[in-house]
Amino acid sequence: EKFKDGLTKTRDSFTSKVNDLVFRFRVVDEEFFEELEELLLQADVGFETVMELIDLLKEEVQRKNIKDTTGMQSLISEKLVEIYNSGEEVSSELNIVEGRLNVILMVGVNGVGKTTTIGKMAARLKKEGKTVMLAAGDTFRAGAIEQLVVWGERTDVEVVRQAEGSDPAAVIFDAVKAAKKRNVDVLICDTAGRLQNKVNLMNELEKVHRVIGREIEDAPHEVLLALDATTGQNALIQAQTFNEVTNVTGIVLTKLDGTAKGGIVLAIRNKLDIPVKFVGLGEGIDDLQPFDPEKYVYGLFA
Ligand code: GDP
Repeated sequence: EKFKDGLTKTRDSFTSKVNDLVFRFRVVDEEFFEELEELLLQADVGFETVMELIDLLKEEVQRKNIKDTTGMQSLISEKLVEIYNSGEEVSSELNIVEGRLNVILMVGVNGVGKTTTIGKMAARLKKEGKTVMLAAGDTFRAGAIEQLVVWGERTDVEVVRQAEGSDPAAVIFDAVKAAKKRNVDVLICDTAGRLQNKVNLMNELEKVHRVIGREIEDAPHEVLLALDATTGQNALIQAQTFNEVTNVTGIVLTKLDGTAKGGIVLAIRNKLDIPVKFVGLGEGIDDLQPFDPEKYVYGLFA
């Protein structure tokens, strides 16, 4: 249900246009595929994925000798899921192991929904019975610390913080120590996302990795990159850049509810072998959903 509601914009725009296409054409021909291609590009599915999909569809149409456009919606859904699942196998589960302190690092540029995602994730984990702590490592953006503290209050989770402008690595170091001492299950660390200066960002993230690794050898266990779905292809560029400076283990695609270009999920999948682990479907505490390609694609056509 959450998926269905959150995808309203993409569905209204993309699906109704596909339906319209199916009714208008009735017969599957070259022109039908051309218009379908255009619709998929508009939904930000990405050029390569669109080409791959169109090829797969044409093959299937020929193999099964399909003439009629009815049934094309389900064929499109089927092939979209097939494409999503065709790359290197990826898990959308968080790498959380019982009996240890699990450290999650959240990265992403300002405004993409990093802080909000951390709050929602804390709520989810608490609901699963885990103890959670947050580290206010975005000491750069004005108000970021306060905003995290508000989420901490809302979810009844402790937030380790220092003054604005202090060293993020120091805050995170303190938080790891505190979380260990208190036997916390999951520590989620916010970071500052200053992409303007790649060298600075790299140095900062390296330092954060180092201080975490000093306390827990194999941590951080997850580096999650928050990307704003409404920024379309720009999100892809951010993903590529962050992946160059740090080893991103998963993507959280935020604000999917605010865009008709939900196809960006497939473009990300095609360009990078990084799983989308969660999607943001609203501003509320419950609006973070684990990503499931089938639910997603069928949500588009529901
Ligand atoms: P940060 O700078 O990356 O920490 O971004 P914030 O967490 O402050 O989020 C920026 C804005 O995006 C806020 O107004 C959030 O409420 C909003 N936001 C975050 N995630 C979502 C989402 O999934 N859907 C919608 N509609 N808004 C979101």
